[in-house]
Amino acid sequence: MTSKKSKNLFDKAKKLIPGGVNSPVRYFDPYPLFIAKSQDSYLWDEDGTKYIDFCNCYGAMLLGHGYKKITSAVIDQIDNGTLFCTPTKLEITLSQLIQNNFPSMEKIRLVNTGTEATMTAIRLVKGYTSNKKIIKCEGCYHGSYDEVLTGSGSGFANASKSSQFSDLVNNTIVVQYNDIDELENVIQKNTSIAGFIIEPILANMGVIPPAKKYLEIVRKLTRDYGIPLIFDEIVTGFRASDGGAQKVFGITPDVTILGKILGNGFAIGAVGGNHEILECLAPIGKVYQASTFAGNPISVTAAIHAIKTINKLKNKLYLKLNKHCTKLTSAIDDIATDLNIPHQINSMNSMYQIFFTDIPVTNYQTCQTANSKKFQKLFSFLLTSGVFIPPSQFESVFISYAHTDIDINKTIDAYAKSLKIIKN
Ligand SMILES: *Cc1c(COP(=O)(O)O)cnc(C)c1O
Repeated sequence: MTSKKSKNLFDKAKKLIPGGVNSPVRYFDPYPLFIAKSQDSYLWDEDGTKYIDFCNCYGAMLLGHGYKKITSAVIDQIDNGTLFCTPTKLEITLSQLIQNNFPSMEKIRLVNTGTEATMTAIRLVKGYTSNKKIIKCEGCYHGSYDEVLTGSGSGFANASKSSQFSDLVNNTIVVQYNDIDELENVIQKNTSIAGFIIEPILANMGVIPPAKKYLEIVRKLTRDYGIPLIFDEIVTGFRASDGGAQKVFGITPDVTILGKILGNGFAIGAVGGNHEILECLAPIGKVYQASTFAGNPISVTAAIHAIKTINKLKNKLYLKLNKHCTKLTSAIDDIATDLNIPHQINSMNSMYQIFFTDIPVTNYQTCQTANSKKFQKLFSFLLTSGVFIPPSQFESVFISYAHTDIDINKTIDAYAKSLKIIKN
């Protein structure tokens, strides 16, 4: 890869910004691309080189970059003010739209990011139950703070495991995804469990779909033992369906977390769920949570128009996403099979990942059997061919509504070329 300007900018950035990046997942060898512009399914770097974007801001840009309905509504809102720190009519409109799509979210609090949303959810169930322990799955990622940075996926899976500095993590119990026996065992052995937090479709270890009936049994177990079930739908919300994974699998969690797609490129997150639990939040409840920028009119306007668009497109949106994903993954599968490359392709809805291993990838442990060096090479060759996927094995590749048939065909060609080179 040769992006002269990116290399120069990275040298400058390193002097001012730790590691030259403002989020560790953005770094890759030998230096990350500096992007100057985006539109639809494309990114342009500082040298003007164009890439088909399948990183998709880690899934946030479901509708594609620069979606006109959203950006023009935001520009109009800017003229009326960007931050009031008072309630607004817009927040009611957005909360109603969220609830229409996610009926389990009886009450909703808006925040700014996914991390803030999961942090609020965890604090909330601890307050609601007066218990201290949280159960999470190895490989699931729920943001970057002490309680959930253990056995995490995403960038943490590549990071130093010694980066734990707080006793808070001792109250977090880690179980394997898709393993009911282990979960049941942990629930029986431990009292004082405040909640079980899970990505209903694991999307931060590549993609790992839930085993048949797994989520149903999780729901039954947690309900039987009175443990609040938190669905972290930051990736799957509006991607698995307009009502997230909970709609696809017909499951009602106690608490739901949304982020990423909710703002289609603007910073916003949401925590919602059972009204009894949500009403534990201040000012009526005892769980204090606050934020200056929460519910700001810019992000809220973006989210209103993102959801309205998603609801209006509905079948057209999901049919196109799923069609492109099926076409792409079956082509990649055929190419890798023809080249005799041991591999697995996991996919669900409009996300997928390839793992270079003979063993089916169903959890964190089996994901570790994949040859991630080979994956790094695939990433680099795809980039050279003008296709940008997330730079890590432990992420999903995301398809957006903006991807065209031509993009998909070019991407299949790029995989064919790249897989041929890395065959050995
Ligand atoms: C991205 C992500 C988060 C964290 O969201 P941020 O907006 O990056 O703080 C939490 N949970 C899941 C499942 C995610 O994919």
